[in-house]
Amino acid sequence: EALERIEAVEPKVRSFLCVTADKALEQAKAVDAKIAAGDEIGLLAGIPIAIKDNMCTKGIPTTCGSKILQGFIPPYESTVTQKLAEAGAVMVGKANMDEFAMGSSTETSAYQVTANPWDLERVPGGSSGGSAAAVAADEAVVSLGSDTGGSIRLPASFCGIVGMKPTYGLVSRFGLVAYGSSLDQIGPFGRSVEDTAILLGAIAGYDPKDSTSLNVKIPNYAKSLKPNFKVRGVLRVGVISETFGQGLDPVVEKAVTKAIETLQELGAEIHVVSCPRFRYGLPAYYIIAPSEASANLARYDGVKYGMRDEEANSLLSMYTKTRSAGFGLEVKRRIMLGTYALSAGYYDAYYLKAQKVRTLIKKDFESAFEKVDVLVCPTAPTTAFKAGDKTADPLSMYLTDLMTIPVNLAGLPGVSIPCGFDEQGLPIGLQLIGNVLQEELLLQVAYAYE
Ligand code: GLN
Repeated sequence: EALERIEAVEPKVRSFLCVTADKALEQAKAVDAKIAAGDEIGLLAGIPIAIKDNMCTKGIPTTCGSKILQGFIPPYESTVTQKLAEAGAVMVGKANMDEFAMGSSTETSAYQVTANPWDLERVPGGSSGGSAAAVAADEAVVSLGSDTGGSIRLPASFCGIVGMKPTYGLVSRFGLVAYGSSLDQIGPFGRSVEDTAILLGAIAGYDPKDSTSLNVKIPNYAKSLKPNFKVRGVLRVGVISETFGQGLDPVVEKAVTKAIETLQELGAEIHVVSCPRFRYGLPAYYIIAPSEASANLARYDGVKYGMRDEEANSLLSMYTKTRSAGFGLEVKRRIMLGTYALSAGYYDAYYLKAQKVRTLIKKDFESAFEKVDVLVCPTAPTTAFKAGDKTADPLSMYLTDLMTIPVNLAGLPGVSIPCGFDEQGLPIGLQLIGNVLQEELLLQVAYAYE
C-alpha cells in the first residue's frame, strides 16, 4: 500500500531520492515468513519507514542530497537502520534533504525540490524535508531525520506532524554523514506522539561504534505515555519570554498562546522564564556549524567517495575540480565561512567566542530548568513559506531556525507537535524542550496535549 501511495503522489510531492521497492518487498516478505513460522516479530514489523538520505544503507545509494556523493553506495549499514531492520521495519526509500543537511527548506538539494503536502507551492521545511513530507503525505508511517539546528523540528512544524530531536548522544550516529559533529542528532518523525515514541525507543541506546554515544538505560517511551501528565506532582511549564514579540508571526503567537492555555487546563503550572542569551544562538551556530562542516567535508576529495573529475591532470586540480563541480552554492558558502573562522588569527575572535556564547546559552537553560520541568516556545517564527521566497537571501533563511538552534547548542531534547493552523490552513508547531535525557517526560507532555 505504501508503495502504491508513493507511486500515486510522488510526482507531486517528490519526497524520495530513491524508492527502495525491492528492498521493501524483501523485508516485508521476511516479516510474513516469520509470522507464518510462528516466530516472534519485532515491534516495527511491517511498518513502512522513510530514511533521510544522509544515513548509510548498505548496497543502496546514499547521496546526502549532494552531487559529490552521486554514485556512492555504502559498504556498511548505519546503526539506526540496522536496528530498524532488526525490529522488522520496512524501508520504502531514501528521503530528499538539503545538501549535507544545510538548509531550512530542502531547496538546497542537488536533485529536486520537495513540496509541502499541505500546499504544493510551499516548502516542507528542512533539512529533513523529504522525511517529513513522506509521513505527512502518507507515503510512510514514520521516518527518520537528523537535526543539527532544527532540521527535524522545523519540517515537523511545517508539515503538521510530530518530530523529535533527542538528547545529544542518545541515538547512535554511526553511519550518519557528519555535518556539525558537536550538534548532529538522529531522531524520529511520526503522525502521532505515540508513533514517535515507539520509533525513538527502537533507535535509542548505547553503541560502541559511536564515541559520543551515551551509555544510559532506555525507558519504554511508548508504554509510559498517559492521557494526563500528573505523573510527578504538578508539572511546571516555562514559557521562554524571548521567543515572543518581534519577528514572530501573530498567527503563530496566537496558536502557541492557546496551546499554553491548554497545558494549563490540563493541570500544568505556567511560569514565564527568561533565557537572555537565547537570541545569540543563531549567530554562534553560524560560526560553529560551518567550522565543523568545513573540517567534516574535507574528506570529499574525489579519492574515496562518489564523484571524481576524471579530466584533471594533477592531484590538486582533481581536488579542486571535483569539489567545485560536486558541491552546491550553500555548501561552498559554509565551507568558506568555516575555514575563515578557524584560520590562524581569527580563531579567537570567532570560533572561541562562539563557543563561549554556547556555554552562556547552556547556563540559561540550566537556570531555567531549576525553576521548571519543561520549556515551551514556537518551533518556527512562521508557517511554511513559498518555494523560492528565501533562496536569494541566506540570512532570512537562517532566521527560520532562531528557536530551534539553542536546543542543539545545549545538547537538549526538543519535540515539535502540531498546535493549530493559520488562516490559509497551514500547520503551526509548538516546541517543547526538556532537560538532558528527559525524553520520557517530554513525550508524556506532548501526548497529554495531543
Ligand atoms: N537550517 C540549519 C542549517 O542550515 C539547520 C540544519 C540542520 O539542522 N541540519 O544549518
